[in-house]
Amino acid sequence: MDSGKQSRLEDWLQYADDLNLGPFFRVRATQRYGDVMPQTDTQIIARPEPPQSQQPAPSPAATPPAKPSAQPYAPLTGMKVPTAPVFAAKAPEISLFEEKIENDSLEKIRTDIGPNCTRCKLHKARTNIVFGVGNPKAELMFVGEGPGADEDAQGEPFVGRAGKLLTQMIEQGMGLKRSDVYIANVVKCRPPENRLPEKDEIATCSPYLLRQIDVIKPKVIVCLGSCSAQTLLQTNQGISKFRGEWFDFHGAKLMATYHPAYLLRNPPAKADVWKDLQKVMALLGLEVKKRS
Ligand code: URA
Repeated sequence: MDSGKQSRLEDWLQYADDLNLGPFFRVRATQRYGDVMPQTDTQIIARPEPPQSQQPAPSPAATPPAKPSAQPYAPLTGMKVPTAPVFAAKAPEISLFEEKIENDSLEKIRTDIGPNCTRCKLHKARTNIVFGVGNPKAELMFVGEGPGADEDAQGEPFVGRAGKLLTQMIEQGMGLKRSDVYIANVVKCRPPENRLPEKDEIATCSPYLLRQIDVIKPKVIVCLGSCSAQTLLQTNQGISKFRGEWFDFHGAKLMATYHPAYLLRNPPAKADVWKDLQKVMALLGLEVKKRS
């Protein structure tokens, strides 16, 4: 491998490590590049836990005000462990998405997960793996955090109370059918007591979400709530700091908005979400109907 490619590979592995997906992609890179794999400072090292104040916000409601970094995707030049809430490194030239699994498909991803996945501790209490649902060629993809009790029971994302609100937003608000869009979660198994997915669970499961996105190739990704937004944008900033803004995400446009469960607790926030969805509709060329 020439030195340029090796250096890009190192960048890519660092990027994967920053995303906590290092182990997953390192195995694939080792299979592909074998003994020319970089052995230096991109070794898998556990990133030290940030101080409590930098932990991902548990919910939009609890999000403390914080100054956003200057630029989404601002490079963290030479920085391995962010010391402040920042958007993490810009995807290097070799990205997770360019390291494609050949002929990947939703069925292949489902098969790879398998019917009895035990890769993380969420398997212990789950009933069903909730893979995702919708149009495999959807232009619009919604990403939530993880299944709740209803989703766990039915094996389909967003079918409980929050899901019904999401369906209303899609159908009555945006004038689409639920089956037109694709809906998935960061983790495919229900976190007990509806807690947020933990870092190790996200690191284990989110590669499957990235593959789903890569296969579906939506024009627009809407992250519902801080967990999915923070996972995909690699930030620990609170969602209220960047909700409603557009980000480039590997060829798609990505926007974060509040989670429907949050809207059930805070109905006035629906106005913000409606503004966000109108931007999504405008980008997709959907007619925005005037509300009486
Ligand atoms: N909340 C989520 O984030 N995902 C679901 O599928 C259901 C509720």
